[in-house]
Amino acid sequence: MENQRKRRLESEGFMKPDNSPALSFPARDEHFMRQALEEARKAAEADEVPVGAVITVGDRIIARGHNLTETLNDVTAHAEMMSITAAADALGGKYLPQCTLYVTVEPCPMCAGALGWSQIGRIVYGASDPKRGFSRFCSDGLSPLHPKTIVTPGVLAEEAGQLMSSFFKRKRRKSR
Ligand SMILES: [Zn+2]
Repeated sequence: MENQRKRRLESEGFMKPDNSPALSFPARDEHFMRQALEEARKAAEADEVPVGAVITVGDRIIARGHNLTETLNDVTAHAEMMSITAAADALGGKYLPQCTLYVTVEPCPMCAGALGWSQIGRIVYGASDPKRGFSRFCSDGLSPLHPKTIVTPGVLAEEAGQLMSSFFKRKRRKSR
């Protein structure tokens, strides 16, 4: 299964056989963000707030996660938390400096704190979250993230935002 997927990615030019990055940064970021959007759709299908994430090392996805707060009855079960745990498990170590997290919506302060503890190398997110996003709580250069973490906002932001707004629209219609 894993090999099959790798071969497909190779044939589409996403991966060189030697596993080195084959795509330029913007194209790679969009490719992996689409995978995170897939996860977000899984959340929406389970009636969960549609946020999805994947964690990569180079061109390889080592962890996937989506929001499971309703399913697990756990406010900490955000997509990022699920994928941090899965990534550490896949790598056999709790620090993730070689990893990139792709998440469809800007992380909240809780997840930003956990990502800080994980020392993740890079965070790429889609839609901004002006109410709950961590950047609202950062000022004067203060941030819960690790000082070496590189942040890239706004990748496929529109798609991620649309998933969220149509989910909440549907919710409001149901509750009426
Ligand atoms: Zn969160």
